[in-house]
Amino acid sequence: MSELTTLQHFIGGTWVEPASGEYFESTNPATLQTNYRAARGNPADVDRAVTAARLAFEDPRWRNLSQTRRGHLLRRLGELIAENAEELARMETRDNGKLLREMRGQLATLPEYFHYYAGLADKIHGDFIPTSDRQVLNYTAREPLGVVGAITPWNSPLTLTSSKLAPALCAGNTVVIKPSEYTSATVLRLAELALEAGFPPGAVNVVTGFGAEAGQALVDHRDLAKISFTGSTATGSRIAAATASRFIGSTLELGGKSPNIVFDDANVPNAAMGVVAGIFAAAGQTCIAGSRVFAHRSVHDELVERVTERAKAIRIGDPMDERTELGPLAFAEQRDKVAGYVDLGREEGARVLTGGNPTDGGLGGWFYEPTVLVDVHNDMRVVREEIFGPVLAVMPFDTEEDAVRLANDTEYGLAAGVWTQNLARAHRMAARLDAGTVWVNTYRAMSPMSPRQGFKASGVGVEHGTESIKEYTRLKSVWINT
Ligand code: NAD
Repeated sequence: MSELTTLQHFIGGTWVEPASGEYFESTNPATLQTNYRAARGNPADVDRAVTAARLAFEDPRWRNLSQTRRGHLLRRLGELIAENAEELARMETRDNGKLLREMRGQLATLPEYFHYYAGLADKIHGDFIPTSDRQVLNYTAREPLGVVGAITPWNSPLTLTSSKLAPALCAGNTVVIKPSEYTSATVLRLAELALEAGFPPGAVNVVTGFGAEAGQALVDHRDLAKISFTGSTATGSRIAAATASRFIGSTLELGGKSPNIVFDDANVPNAAMGVVAGIFAAAGQTCIAGSRVFAHRSVHDELVERVTERAKAIRIGDPMDERTELGPLAFAEQRDKVAGYVDLGREEGARVLTGGNPTDGGLGGWFYEPTVLVDVHNDMRVVREEIFGPVLAVMPFDTEEDAVRLANDTEYGLAAGVWTQNLARAHRMAARLDAGTVWVNTYRAMSPMSPRQGFKASGVGVEHGTESIKEYTRLKSVWINT
């Protein structure tokens, strides 16, 4: 598929032309070369995909497949991803500009997502419930939901799609995926690999296209049992309203404005490295970006100096080059949005210590310099709103109480970092921070085994871990009078 320049939908195990006959172009953000043309999905395409998924769900070959066998298929899919890792990594780098180095790292762990759920597949079951009447048997059954719609963003399409696909299939559902219009290629390839792994045609379908068209049609489809969405809080809010009114479930992984808190007892060089990785990985285009830093006043200047020095040294350029440390932003509007926020910050009184300019990265692409802002405070929009770019805002604090108050003063609650060598303080902070993930003396650690949940406007529901199986099953209580 990597040789193709025209990508069709993947429905019912085959490539399907868009009903409208229309395609849209996808551009490499580093070079501005056209990568491929992808099918422009509309409601007719979505209907075809959901129908294929429903038929596959009802087909006894899937419905009656043993859970052990489902696990085997997931394991095989993980193996196929490992075998095709380099191709997938290069494809995604061309699509969204993420460093090939970062992609190789992601691909090294991606099979684990499928292997983890392969191990869980035969451990999904209900319970025996004791009743007061010995004549009556009460048990529960944990059933799959049906057709799950998965809508994913462009910043990490393979990983974020796998976080939905693996547990959904593990629990016995079938899936229709609508990837971001900016990154169709790797998700289509993933669906193709699922078929190769032995999942029946229709178990995994992909309709490419735009959010307002294909995405909305998927959300609105009457045969859908659930939507699992990762993307912006604004879109998530619309999806939450649409699914709630139809009483179908939704799992929502949304935006963030995560704090990194550096205490006076921290190992400051380590903290500086963590802060830099927290914000500049993937050019800041990660939901968990540590975009706000609160540094104790006594270490503030040292931390700022270290972070700024490192930011200045970051090598911007070709994401395919192993030596490159910062790639492009994924598309033109994204670059313009980042530039707009930094300009706004300047107008609001922020001081730019380094960065603050768009650049073409020497390749003609949509790059933006790693940027460090100081003289900022919690009322500024650059501190409150998700920029989704390589822009860090650093602020001082005086007491632990201040740090908690400032860090929690946000509509988001996705993640937080704490840098301290005081174990008691680490526990206190972990308990008091309003964030679904708290890292202490590290940042970005993640595993398919560890549950991930956004608090507040960062989401609803859990991804990863055994908890996520509940998101893709329903519980039935059965009473039998013996
Ligand atoms: P987005 O909300 O614009 O788009 C996400 C997906 O939703 C895309 O596939 C898009 O086509 C689709 N979509 C858009 N409008 C739709 C509609 N009306 N109905 C149905 N689908 C629609 O988000 P994005 O710009 O692609 O992604 C960036 C956002 O994702 C950031 O806010 C980031 O924080 C968030 N994100 C969150 C996590 C997490 O785990 N919490 C992970 C990665 C990214």
